[in-house]
Amino acid sequence: MFRNATLPDGGTHDIEVEDGRIAALLPATKSGPGIDLGGALVMPPLVDGHIHLDKTLLGLPWIPNQAKGNAVSDRIAAERKVRAARTVSETETGSNLVRQVVASGTLHMRSHVDIDNQLGLKNLHAILEVRERFKDLVTIEIVAFPQSGIARSPGTAELLDRAIAEGADLVGGLDPVGIDGDLDGHLDTIFGIAARRGAGLDIHLHDGGEGGIAQILVIAARTRALGLKGKVAISHAFALGSVPADVAARTADALAEAGVAIMSHGPGAAPMPPLPLLRAHGVEVFGGSDNIRDAWSPFGNGDMLDRAMTIGYRGNFRHDHELQLAYEMVTSAAARVLGLDDYGLRVGGPADFVAVDAQSIAEAVAARPRRKLVVKAGRVVAREGVLA
Ligand SMILES: [Zn+2]
Repeated sequence: MFRNATLPDGGTHDIEVEDGRIAALLPATKSGPGIDLGGALVMPPLVDGHIHLDKTLLGLPWIPNQAKGNAVSDRIAAERKVRAARTVSETETGSNLVRQVVASGTLHMRSHVDIDNQLGLKNLHAILEVRERFKDLVTIEIVAFPQSGIARSPGTAELLDRAIAEGADLVGGLDPVGIDGDLDGHLDTIFGIAARRGAGLDIHLHDGGEGGIAQILVIAARTRALGLKGKVAISHAFALGSVPADVAARTADALAEAGVAIMSHGPGAAPMPPLPLLRAHGVEVFGGSDNIRDAWSPFGNGDMLDRAMTIGYRGNFRHDHELQLAYEMVTSAAARVLGLDDYGLRVGGPADFVAVDAQSIAEAVAARPRRKLVVKAGRVVAREGVLA
C-alpha cells in the first residue's frame, strides 16, 4: 500500500498494489500499513523518446568536445575520432546512463544506436546487452541509426537491414538531403527495410527552411502510401520552427493525416518546432533527451522533468496548460509513440510510478524536484534520486 498520494488530477488516494499492478485507488488515509507518501504528487513513469545510449561517455573522465565547426558533418567527424579512442565499452557507459535515468523516474526509452561502415553492428550488440541487463527495470526500444549517412557510408543499407533482423525495432534516418544529398535514395532504403521487416521509422531531420519542409512532406506522403500511420516519427524537424506559421500549419495537417509524430528535445541553438500549433493540428509531439555527455553535447542528465522544463523554457511556455503539454511530451504522448499499451496510472494498470514533492504537474515541470520514490511493478527501485 502506498498511502496518501496526490494524483495528477488533484485527488488524494491510497494506492493498493497487488502482483505488481494497481489493485485499487482508495480514499487517502493518514496512517496504516505501507509507505506514507505524505501527499506527494504521483505521476506515471517518465518516458524518454529519444536517447543515444551508445554515444554517452557518462562515467568516463571528461572528454572535451573536438568538433571543428558547428555543422552536423563536423560533429560526425569529431565523434568518429572519439569512438576510435574509446577504452571503455558502450555496454558499460550505456549502463551508467540507464542507472541514472531510472533513478530520475524514466522507465521506458527509445534509444538510437549508431550504425555505419566503421562500427558495423558493434554498438547495436552493446545496447542489446544493456537492454537484456536492465530488462526487469526499463523497456528500451532500439532504432538502427545511420549516423554517417547511407550513401556516404557504403554498406550501411545492408547493416541497417541486418540490425532489424538482429533485434533493433525501428529503422532510423539522417538528413536525406543535408547529409546524403539523395532524398529518394535515402528514403527508398529506409522505407524499404521498414516495409519488408514490419518495422517503424524514426528519422533525424536537422535540415531547416523550405528544404526541410519539402523532406517532411515527402516522409508524410511515403508514410501514408505504405500504411505506416502511427509508426513513423521525425526527430528534431527544426524546419517547422524556421518557416512562417501558415507553412508550419499546412505541414502539420499533412503530418497529422499521415500519423507522423514529431520529437523535440528543446534545442538550444536551433529553431524549435511550434509544439502547441502542431498539437492543435492533431500532430503527436513527444520529447527526448537526445545527446547526454557525449561527442555531440557536453550537457544533459537524462532527467525528463528537466527536459520538460527545457522544452517549456525554449517554447516560452508560461501557463499551466502549456506546462501540461511539456509534461505530456515526456509521459503519455511519448508512451503512445513508443507503442506502450500497458501504461498509465489506473486501476488494473502497472504499479509503475514516480513521486515528487509538488502540488501539481505544472509545479513539477517548473521546479523539477528530486524524485522521492520511483516504483516499478510495486517495488521501490529508487529513493531520493538514488537507485535502491
Ligand atoms: Zn539524436
